Amino acid sequence: MTTMFDLTGKSAIVTGANTGIGQAIALALAAAGADIACVGRTPAVETVAQIAALGRRAINIAADLATIAPVGDIVDQTIEKLGGLHILVNNAGIIRRADAVDFTEADWDAVIDTNLKSVFFLCQAVGRHMIAQGHGKIINIASMLTFQGGIRVPSYTASKSGIGGLTKLLANEWAAKGVNVNAIAPGYIATNNTAALQADENRNRSILERIPAGRWGAASDLGGAAVFLASSASDYVQGHILAVDGGWLAR
Ligand code: NAP
Repeated sequence: MTTMFDLTGKSAIVTGANTGIGQAIALALAAAGADIACVGRTPAVETVAQIAALGRRAINIAADLATIAPVGDIVDQTIEKLGGLHILVNNAGIIRRADAVDFTEADWDAVIDTNLKSVFFLCQAVGRHMIAQGHGKIINIASMLTFQGGIRVPSYTASKSGIGGLTKLLANEWAAKGVNVNAIAPGYIATNNTAALQADENRNRSILERIPAGRWGAASDLGGAAVFLASSASDYVQGHILAVDGGWLAR
Protein backbone atom coordinates (compact mmCIF):
# COMPACT_ATOMS: atom_id res chain seq x y z
CA MET A 1 0.00 0.00 0.00
CA THR A 2 1.30 3.46 -0.81
CA THR A 3 1.75 5.70 2.22
CA MET A 4 -0.96 8.10 1.11
CA PHE A 5 -3.60 5.45 1.98
CA ASP A 6 -1.83 4.24 5.13
CA LEU A 7 -3.86 4.61 8.34
CA THR A 8 -1.22 3.24 10.74
CA GLY A 9 -1.42 5.02 14.09
CA LYS A 10 -4.92 6.40 13.44
CA SER A 11 -7.97 5.68 15.60
CA ALA A 12 -11.45 5.55 14.12
CA ILE A 13 -14.98 5.49 15.45
CA VAL A 14 -17.36 3.44 13.28
CA THR A 15 -21.02 3.44 14.34
CA GLY A 16 -23.08 0.34 13.58
CA ALA A 17 -19.97 -1.78 13.02
CA ASN A 18 -21.54 -5.12 14.01
CA THR A 19 -23.00 -5.83 10.58
CA GLY A 20 -23.44 -4.71 6.97
CA ILE A 21 -21.73 -1.61 5.63
CA GLY A 22 -20.37 -0.48 9.02
CA GLN A 23 -18.68 -3.84 9.58
CA ALA A 24 -17.13 -3.80 6.11
CA ILE A 25 -15.85 -0.24 6.56
CA ALA A 26 -14.41 -1.03 10.02
CA LEU A 27 -12.53 -4.00 8.54
CA ALA A 28 -11.26 -1.98 5.57
CA LEU A 29 -9.97 0.84 7.83
CA ALA A 30 -8.30 -1.74 10.09
CA ALA A 31 -6.71 -3.48 7.10
CA ALA A 32 -5.26 -0.06 6.16
CA GLY A 33 -3.76 0.20 9.66
CA ALA A 34 -6.33 1.93 11.90
CA ASP A 35 -7.51 0.94 15.38
CA ILE A 36 -11.30 0.89 15.64
CA ALA A 37 -13.94 1.80 18.24
CA CYS A 38 -17.06 -0.12 17.21
CA VAL A 39 -20.03 1.87 18.49
CA GLY A 40 -23.54 0.46 18.64
CA ARG A 41 -26.37 -1.12 20.57
CA THR A 42 -25.40 -4.67 19.52
CA PRO A 43 -21.80 -5.57 20.45
CA ALA A 44 -19.64 -5.99 17.35
CA VAL A 45 -18.16 -9.26 18.61
CA GLU A 46 -17.31 -10.72 15.19
CA THR A 47 -15.92 -7.41 13.88
CA VAL A 48 -13.67 -6.94 16.92
CA ALA A 49 -12.32 -10.48 16.55
CA GLN A 50 -11.62 -9.98 12.84
CA ILE A 51 -9.82 -6.69 13.51
CA ALA A 52 -7.72 -8.34 16.22
CA ALA A 53 -6.81 -11.04 13.67
CA LEU A 54 -5.53 -8.25 11.42
CA GLY A 55 -3.21 -7.20 14.26
CA ARG A 56 -5.08 -3.98 15.09
CA ARG A 57 -6.80 -2.88 18.28
CA ALA A 58 -10.59 -2.86 18.42
CA ILE A 59 -13.01 -2.06 21.23
CA ASN A 60 -16.78 -2.10 21.63
CA ILE A 61 -18.54 0.97 22.95
CA ALA A 62 -22.18 0.32 23.83
CA ALA A 63 -24.42 3.15 22.65
CA ASP A 64 -27.99 3.53 21.45
CA LEU A 65 -27.90 6.38 18.94
CA ALA A 66 -31.67 6.82 18.99
CA THR A 67 -30.77 9.71 21.33
CA ILE A 68 -27.71 11.92 21.63
CA ALA A 69 -27.16 10.97 25.29
CA PRO A 70 -24.16 8.66 24.59
CA VAL A 71 -22.27 11.12 22.35
CA GLY A 72 -19.87 12.56 24.94
CA ASP A 73 -19.05 9.13 26.36
CA ILE A 74 -18.28 7.74 22.88
CA VAL A 75 -15.64 10.41 22.29
CA ASP A 76 -14.16 10.12 25.81
CA GLN A 77 -13.95 6.31 25.73
CA THR A 78 -12.36 6.24 22.27
CA ILE A 79 -9.63 8.72 23.24
CA GLU A 80 -9.04 7.02 26.59
CA LYS A 81 -8.91 3.43 25.27
CA LEU A 82 -7.37 3.94 21.81
CA GLY A 83 -5.19 6.92 22.68
CA GLY A 84 -6.57 9.26 20.05
CA LEU A 85 -9.36 10.04 17.61
CA HIS A 86 -8.66 10.80 13.95
CA ILE A 87 -11.53 9.31 11.92
CA LEU A 88 -15.31 9.22 12.41
CA VAL A 89 -17.63 7.11 10.26
CA ASN A 90 -21.30 7.87 10.88
CA ASN A 91 -22.83 4.67 9.54
CA ALA A 92 -25.58 3.59 11.99
CA GLY A 93 -28.97 4.10 10.44
CA ILE A 94 -32.51 2.77 10.16
CA ILE A 95 -35.31 2.86 7.61
CA ARG A 96 -39.12 2.73 8.00
CA ARG A 97 -41.42 2.04 5.07
CA ALA A 98 -45.04 3.18 4.64
CA ASP A 99 -47.08 5.22 2.16
CA ALA A 100 -46.68 8.94 2.80
CA VAL A 101 -50.42 9.30 3.55
CA ASP A 102 -50.13 6.74 6.36
CA PHE A 103 -46.69 7.63 7.72
CA THR A 104 -46.64 8.01 11.52
CA GLU A 105 -44.93 10.59 13.69
CA ALA A 106 -43.15 7.74 15.50
CA ASP A 107 -41.61 6.50 12.23
CA TRP A 108 -40.66 10.07 11.32
CA ASP A 109 -38.98 10.79 14.67
CA ALA A 110 -37.18 7.43 15.02
CA VAL A 111 -35.46 7.78 11.64
CA ILE A 112 -34.64 11.49 11.89
CA ASP A 113 -33.29 11.09 15.44
CA THR A 114 -30.99 8.18 14.56
CA ASN A 115 -29.98 9.06 11.00
CA LEU A 116 -29.67 12.84 11.28
CA LYS A 117 -29.79 14.28 14.81
CA SER A 118 -27.32 11.83 16.36
CA VAL A 119 -25.05 12.17 13.32
CA PHE A 120 -24.88 15.95 13.72
CA PHE A 121 -24.17 15.86 17.45
CA LEU A 122 -21.55 13.13 17.06
CA CYS A 123 -19.91 15.23 14.33
CA GLN A 124 -20.01 18.20 16.70
CA ALA A 125 -18.41 16.36 19.63
CA VAL A 126 -15.77 14.68 17.46
CA GLY A 127 -15.28 17.85 15.41
CA ARG A 128 -14.40 19.85 18.54
CA HIS A 129 -11.62 17.35 19.29
CA MET A 130 -10.40 17.27 15.67
CA ILE A 131 -10.36 21.07 15.36
CA ALA A 132 -8.33 21.30 18.57
CA GLN A 133 -5.77 18.79 17.22
CA GLY A 134 -5.76 20.45 13.79
CA HIS A 135 -6.75 17.43 11.71
CA GLY A 136 -9.41 14.76 11.29
CA LYS A 137 -11.57 12.89 8.80
CA ILE A 138 -15.34 12.60 9.04
CA ILE A 139 -17.27 10.30 6.71
CA ASN A 140 -21.06 10.31 6.78
CA ILE A 141 -23.02 7.53 5.11
CA ALA A 142 -25.52 9.08 2.72
CA SER A 143 -27.70 7.23 0.18
CA MET A 144 -29.07 7.35 -3.35
CA LEU A 145 -31.91 9.17 -1.57
CA THR A 146 -29.51 12.01 -0.87
CA PHE A 147 -29.99 12.72 -4.60
CA GLN A 148 -33.35 11.11 -5.40
CA GLY A 149 -36.79 11.06 -3.79
CA GLY A 150 -37.36 7.37 -3.29
CA ILE A 151 -40.81 5.99 -2.52
CA ARG A 152 -42.59 5.02 0.76
CA VAL A 153 -39.60 6.16 2.87
CA PRO A 154 -40.31 9.83 3.69
CA SER A 155 -38.28 10.13 6.91
CA TYR A 156 -35.38 8.17 5.41
CA THR A 157 -35.27 10.41 2.33
CA ALA A 158 -35.44 13.51 4.53
CA SER A 159 -32.65 12.19 6.77
CA LYS A 160 -30.31 11.22 3.93
CA SER A 161 -30.98 14.44 1.99
CA GLY A 162 -30.18 16.19 5.27
CA ILE A 163 -26.90 14.26 5.50
CA GLY A 164 -25.89 15.70 2.13
CA GLY A 165 -26.50 19.27 3.27
CA LEU A 166 -24.93 18.74 6.67
CA THR A 167 -21.80 17.23 5.12
CA LYS A 168 -21.34 20.33 2.96
CA LEU A 169 -22.07 22.75 5.81
CA LEU A 170 -19.54 21.09 8.12
CA ALA A 171 -16.97 21.02 5.31
CA ASN A 172 -17.45 24.75 4.79
CA GLU A 173 -16.92 25.48 8.49
CA TRP A 174 -14.09 23.03 9.18
CA ALA A 175 -12.05 22.62 5.96
CA ALA A 176 -9.68 25.45 6.88
CA LYS A 177 -9.23 23.90 10.35
CA GLY A 178 -7.77 20.67 8.91
CA VAL A 179 -10.93 18.60 9.23
CA ASN A 180 -12.27 16.90 6.10
CA VAL A 181 -16.00 16.19 6.08
CA ASN A 182 -17.27 14.03 3.23
CA ALA A 183 -19.93 11.40 2.60
CA ILE A 184 -20.25 8.08 0.84
CA ALA A 185 -23.54 7.40 -0.95
CA PRO A 186 -23.93 3.63 -1.28
CA GLY A 187 -26.09 2.36 -4.10
CA TYR A 188 -28.16 -0.77 -3.59
CA ILE A 189 -26.11 -2.90 -1.21
CA ALA A 190 -27.20 -6.37 -0.03
CA THR A 191 -27.58 -5.95 3.78
CA ASN A 192 -30.34 -6.19 6.43
CA ASN A 193 -31.37 -2.64 5.51
CA THR A 194 -32.41 -3.77 2.01
CA ALA A 195 -33.67 -7.27 2.87
CA ALA A 196 -37.29 -6.27 2.09
CA LEU A 197 -36.32 -4.99 -1.37
CA GLN A 198 -34.23 -8.05 -2.17
CA ALA A 199 -37.12 -10.30 -1.12
CA ASP A 200 -39.65 -8.46 -3.32
CA GLU A 201 -39.28 -10.15 -6.72
CA ASN A 202 -40.58 -7.19 -8.75
CA ARG A 203 -38.60 -4.52 -6.89
CA ASN A 204 -35.49 -6.70 -7.00
CA ARG A 205 -35.78 -7.14 -10.78
CA SER A 206 -36.42 -3.45 -11.51
CA ILE A 207 -33.49 -2.42 -9.29
CA LEU A 208 -31.13 -4.88 -10.98
CA GLU A 209 -32.24 -3.77 -14.46
CA ARG A 210 -31.14 -0.21 -13.66
CA ILE A 211 -27.72 -0.97 -12.18
CA PRO A 212 -25.11 -0.74 -14.96
CA ALA A 213 -22.81 -3.09 -13.01
CA GLY A 214 -25.60 -5.69 -13.20
CA ARG A 215 -25.46 -6.76 -9.55
CA TRP A 216 -26.32 -5.59 -6.05
CA GLY A 217 -23.34 -4.13 -4.24
CA ALA A 218 -21.62 -6.04 -1.45
CA ALA A 219 -20.82 -4.21 1.79
CA SER A 220 -17.14 -4.76 1.02
CA ASP A 221 -17.55 -2.61 -2.12
CA LEU A 222 -17.59 0.44 0.22
CA GLY A 223 -14.18 -0.27 1.78
CA GLY A 224 -12.01 1.46 -0.79
CA ALA A 225 -13.99 4.70 -0.73
CA ALA A 226 -13.86 4.72 3.09
CA VAL A 227 -10.09 4.24 3.19
CA PHE A 228 -9.66 6.99 0.59
CA LEU A 229 -11.78 9.49 2.54
CA ALA A 230 -10.11 8.52 5.85
CA SER A 231 -6.57 8.89 4.52
CA SER A 232 -4.27 11.71 3.46
CA ALA A 233 -5.05 10.77 -0.17
CA SER A 234 -8.22 12.88 0.22
CA ASP A 235 -6.73 15.88 2.06
CA TYR A 236 -8.07 18.35 -0.55
CA VAL A 237 -11.49 16.65 -0.88
CA GLN A 238 -14.12 18.59 1.08
CA GLY A 239 -17.91 18.33 1.26
CA HIS A 240 -18.02 15.65 -1.43
CA ILE A 241 -20.66 12.94 -1.64
CA LEU A 242 -18.96 9.95 -3.25
CA ALA A 243 -21.43 7.58 -4.89
CA VAL A 244 -20.44 3.90 -4.78
CA ASP A 245 -23.38 2.61 -6.73
CA GLY A 246 -22.38 0.39 -9.64
CA GLY A 247 -23.36 3.28 -11.91
CA TRP A 248 -26.96 3.74 -10.65
CA LEU A 249 -26.81 7.56 -10.71
CA ALA A 250 -25.25 7.58 -14.16
CA ARG A 251 -28.47 6.15 -15.64
P1 NAP B 1 -27.89 -2.71 8.57
O1 NAP B 1 -27.25 -4.00 8.17
O2 NAP B 1 -29.33 -2.68 8.95
O3 NAP B 1 -26.99 -2.00 9.68
C1 NAP B 1 -27.43 -0.85 10.34
C2 NAP B 1 -26.50 -0.59 11.50
O4 NAP B 1 -26.95 0.57 12.22
C3 NAP B 1 -26.47 -1.74 12.49
O5 NAP B 1 -25.18 -1.89 13.01
C4 NAP B 1 -27.41 -1.25 13.56
O6 NAP B 1 -27.21 -1.85 14.80
C5 NAP B 1 -27.05 0.21 13.58
N1 NAP B 1 -28.08 0.97 14.30
C6 NAP B 1 -29.36 1.14 13.94
N2 NAP B 1 -30.01 1.86 14.88
C7 NAP B 1 -29.10 2.14 15.86
C8 NAP B 1 -29.17 2.82 17.09
N3 NAP B 1 -30.30 3.37 17.56
N4 NAP B 1 -28.05 2.91 17.84
C9 NAP B 1 -26.90 2.35 17.42
N5 NAP B 1 -26.78 1.69 16.25
C10 NAP B 1 -27.87 1.57 15.49
O7 NAP B 1 -27.82 -1.70 7.34
P2 NAP B 1 -26.67 -1.23 6.34
O8 NAP B 1 -27.21 -1.41 5.00
O9 NAP B 1 -25.36 -1.81 6.69
O10 NAP B 1 -26.72 0.33 6.67
C11 NAP B 1 -25.64 1.08 7.15
C12 NAP B 1 -25.82 2.51 6.69
O11 NAP B 1 -25.79 2.55 5.26
C13 NAP B 1 -27.13 3.15 7.10
O12 NAP B 1 -26.93 4.51 7.42
C14 NAP B 1 -27.97 3.03 5.83
O13 NAP B 1 -28.98 3.99 5.77
C15 NAP B 1 -26.90 3.26 4.79
N6 NAP B 1 -27.23 2.81 3.43
C16 NAP B 1 -27.45 1.51 3.14
C17 NAP B 1 -27.72 1.14 1.83
C18 NAP B 1 -27.96 -0.27 1.41
O14 NAP B 1 -28.27 -0.51 0.24
N7 NAP B 1 -27.82 -1.25 2.27
C19 NAP B 1 -27.80 2.11 0.84
C20 NAP B 1 -27.58 3.44 1.17
C21 NAP B 1 -27.29 3.77 2.48
P3 NAP B 1 -28.13 -3.09 15.30
O15 NAP B 1 -27.59 -4.30 14.58
O16 NAP B 1 -27.92 -3.13 16.76
O17 NAP B 1 -29.53 -2.77 14.89
